[in-house]
Amino acid sequence: MIKLNIQDTFNKELPADPNKNNTRRQVFEACYSFVTPRIPSNPSLVHVSKEMAETLGFSEEDLASQEFIDLFSGAKVMEGTAPFAMCYGGHQFGHWAGQLGDGRAINLMEVEHHQKRWALQLKGAGETPYSRTADGLAVLRSSIREHLCSEAMFHLGVPTTRSLSLSLSGDEVLRDMMYDGNSAYEKGAIVCRVAPSFVRFGNFQIFASRKDTDNLKKLADYTIRHFYPTIELGTPNAYLEFFNQVLDRTLEMVLAWQRVGFVHGVMNTDNLSILGLTIDYGPYGWLEGYDENWTPNTTDRQNARYRFGNQPGVAHWNLYQLANALFLLVGEAKPLEEALERFRPTFEKAYGEMMKSKLGLQEENVNPGLWATLETTLSLTETDMTIFFRLLSTISKSDQPAEAIAKIKPAFYQAEDLQGNVLEEWTAWFQIYLDYLQAEIVSEEDRQKNMNAVNPKYVLRNYMAQMAIDAADKGDYALIEELYQLIKEPYAEQVDQEKWFAKRPEWARDKVGCSMLSCSS
Ligand code: AMP
Ligand code: MG
Repeated sequence: MIKLNIQDTFNKELPADPNKNNTRRQVFEACYSFVTPRIPSNPSLVHVSKEMAETLGFSEEDLASQEFIDLFSGAKVMEGTAPFAMCYGGHQFGHWAGQLGDGRAINLMEVEHHQKRWALQLKGAGETPYSRTADGLAVLRSSIREHLCSEAMFHLGVPTTRSLSLSLSGDEVLRDMMYDGNSAYEKGAIVCRVAPSFVRFGNFQIFASRKDTDNLKKLADYTIRHFYPTIELGTPNAYLEFFNQVLDRTLEMVLAWQRVGFVHGVMNTDNLSILGLTIDYGPYGWLEGYDENWTPNTTDRQNARYRFGNQPGVAHWNLYQLANALFLLVGEAKPLEEALERFRPTFEKAYGEMMKSKLGLQEENVNPGLWATLETTLSLTETDMTIFFRLLSTISKSDQPAEAIAKIKPAFYQAEDLQGNVLEEWTAWFQIYLDYLQAEIVSEEDRQKNMNAVNPKYVLRNYMAQMAIDAADKGDYALIEELYQLIKEPYAEQVDQEKWFAKRPEWARDKVGCSMLSCSS
């Protein structure tokens, strides 16, 4: 028998929807609706994150048991727990969309282990009152992407929700993957996600949109009490302080995305965590060639609202929407506006510090033009972001620009582009960069070590996840485990894994699932 230290709070302390039927509807004056996961026809376990399992207190025996498969595929509900789906709203692509909610996520329980409390949630375990016109299910390809990427982000040091397990339901799920009228059956899958809380900006917005100040306050008080313990409740100032802290955490999260080249793809307000965690891995992607205008999301190709370079701006826009919701509790607009005005300068400053660390510079007076010019130069010809920054640490103070360029050459997708104007720009940039390096007092060895701690060697490149998906579709899960092991130490050299320290192969350039993803999942 699996024994967990269950400590539910959300479904104990917050108002529930009195209607227990699993019918699609608008839910008012409640934070969630009780719902039971759908029984999968033939559940099986594909992969477990051992690291996450240990963090939650599962034993080896637990992981090998039938009970584990049953609990985390939705076949069985643990005694003493009451699963539920949350009610939230959101702005999708800039427009208020009304009630959304957990359409295919079902919260199982909260588990306490080593003084930390974790919420466990199944994604793809069937319909809920919030499923609207969809089926509440998820397919294997998107579930592999979520399972591996959330663990990869965690090990990269990016605030994120986690993943405990990936299971197959044994059921078939119909999807029109590219929204082009070609529907096909795919394998249904279920991920068990883990986070201190899955509350989003949209959970607050839905109450504000309905002028339900009473429940808005209950949710804010709950969130502050459990997740922002430095804030003293009891005055309107608490909600202002809450907003300021959410802003800081959101800023840190996006800053980390920009550092590692992660593009979320669907930064709607229902996909922004109130804890500043990366949440809802859908059509996300990793920058290969450095391109601020890139988005993996084909649904967003036209406006590219959620492109790489726009992520800080969208975070700010989303915080504005959250401020609008919290205004009902703060009572004054001015201090919220002041908080929002702080975002851009704070981000700029933090971004500068972050770029300096990527460049290995500790000196005080570095002109921000250095990274501004670098970003333009990186975009002149297709240059792999991850490889570029990783190789940058191999440059030494005594190098001439030509020697430095030779060292970072493997980052260029077309080495023959490195001539004429492109070569001149790189030479000019390295001349300035090498001058800065001369002024550094840390040893070359220490600088390299520092740089390699912020510039990952291995990220979950889009094509790598796709290779794991293609193999898993045929029943071979070895690559999922291989990539899982790889991404656990993204900053380590891992010399026997050099094959993954490589540019995207040409076959993956325009392949669906690699550079192009729709929201279909
Ligand atoms: P997303 O932007 O993908 O995070 O989803 C937006 C909304 O659609 C959320 O309320 C999801 O719960 C819901 N949703 C997405 N896919 C499904 C599905 N297959 N079944 C039910 N609801 C879904
Ligand atoms: Mg979502």
